Amino acid sequence: MDFRPFVRDIVDFPENGVVFKDITPLLKSPEALKAACDTLHGLIGELKIDKVVGVDSRGFIFAPMLASKLGAGFVPIRKAGKLPYKTNSESYDLEYGSGTLEIHTDAILKGEKVLVHDDVLATGGTAKAVCKLVESLGGEVVQCNFLIELTFLNGSDQLKGYQTEALLKY
Ligand code: IMP
Repeated sequence: MDFRPFVRDIVDFPENGVVFKDITPLLKSPEALKAACDTLHGLIGELKIDKVVGVDSRGFIFAPMLASKLGAGFVPIRKAGKLPYKTNSESYDLEYGSGTLEIHTDAILKGEKVLVHDDVLATGGTAKAVCKLVESLGGEVVQCNFLIELTFLNGSDQLKGYQTEALLKY
């Protein structure tokens, strides 16, 4: 399926100079939603996955669906102050601004195989911080999996050494 017609560009969102890839047209189409989930699942291949980590907040859309298909658990990574239990934190730079991400300290066990999922790979700062959080608990990142990679921002440079897959590349 060609997913490009289901992703629209929003100019100057959330800040001037940013062209935001909006996936809500894809999400509201029953056919595109199912096909995107199936294709993302196909990108994982035969990898054994114990936990799928989804990134606050659009990573929460497909990560639990993938976890369910894989027979794995889902772990939320959230912006600072949102998780209720004890956390590990990691600060990161964004395409627009900066922030801190957190993971529950009991979310991943040592040696577990982890799939990291987010909607968009832009500059790679977010995904790199997420990989560090997973590794801070002894997890092994076996793939970084995205709906969209903005290749012109060279985010994959931040993810050297990790297998990186994306449904759509711009
Ligand atoms: P990075 O850290 O620069 O790679 O930015 C990735 C994070 O920012 C992801 O969590 C995305 O949800 C969000 N993001 C960056 N650009 C876009 C975009 O064009 N559309 C949707 N989300 C974006």
